[in-house]
Amino acid sequence: MFRTRRAPHTGRAPRAPHTRRAFRALVTAVLILTALAAVACGKEGSPPVKGPQTDKLPQYQVDTSFRLDDSPTWRAAKKRGYFVVGVKEDQPYLGEKDPATGRYSGFDIEIARMVSASLGLDPARIRFRTIASANRETALQNGQIDYYVGTYTINDNRKKLVGFAGPYYMAGQSLLVRADENDINGPQDLAGKRVCSASGSTPYQRIQQDYPQAELVSYDTYSICVDNLLTYQVDAVTTDDAILIGYAAKAPKELKVVGKPFSEEPYGIGVPRGDNALRFAIDDALEANEKNGNWKKAYEATLGLSGVPAPQPPPIDRYPAS
Ligand code: GLU
Repeated sequence: MFRTRRAPHTGRAPRAPHTRRAFRALVTAVLILTALAAVACGKEGSPPVKGPQTDKLPQYQVDTSFRLDDSPTWRAAKKRGYFVVGVKEDQPYLGEKDPATGRYSGFDIEIARMVSASLGLDPARIRFRTIASANRETALQNGQIDYYVGTYTINDNRKKLVGFAGPYYMAGQSLLVRADENDINGPQDLAGKRVCSASGSTPYQRIQQDYPQAELVSYDTYSICVDNLLTYQVDAVTTDDAILIGYAAKAPKELKVVGKPFSEEPYGIGVPRGDNALRFAIDDALEANEKNGNWKKAYEATLGLSGVPAPQPPPIDRYPAS
């Protein structure tokens, strides 16, 4: 890196010892700065984190003749000119917000875009709004958002409060631990361990009910749980495998997903309860995009980057109007 330039032969006296000391100090300082820069650019050996590449994402054709006058949510959005969609912002490959640009990306974001285009609204104009797991039902009930796409499990309790289109993906609850952890390999090993999950989530409820000996800790988001795992405040993070695989892929030397999924988490699109016209139209949109290949392309450009090949999407559950 450093080439020693030979001093021109001037016949002058050799360099004084203090000059040599100063030169050595300078070389040491440069070496330290170079090492620090390497650390700042990414840990040695860790692969660069691949995010979704915009040019690989499908283009969704906007259905300009689409009308859904029976849906109050659709009418309001049409008048406004865009949908307000609730999402997550800290779930790698699913719903992630770039802090520099404010842009959202991920599989759930693509699902929102394809649905918006099928419902006749320009997907480029969606306003994404970050809503935590515990606040999804109230956000839909009080009209803060038109619909929600963010690792949202369909279940009967939630169906009393909101409607669900889909499912569009099947996940399962799993466990994330530090890479050097050997004692936790499944939920049966959680007794006496500190386990973190998001408030209001189904994985949190399942640990509370089925594994009461675990020491359950909750935060608003899974990324706070992951920070707590990395700093030894908790021993495991639990939520859907799709979410945990993303965190592990971002820190493969520090984190690993262990055991087999121990639940079924069918992801649905949350809509205001009673807006059946909107729910059925989103079911149609999902079905059409699964058939025309957009779903698979969107998966491969986002969640597929975590290394799991595209599965078959689960069948749509078009349950009766409610
Ligand atoms: N799918 C689970 C749920 O809806 C966990 C993921 C989340 O909190 O978004 O509760």
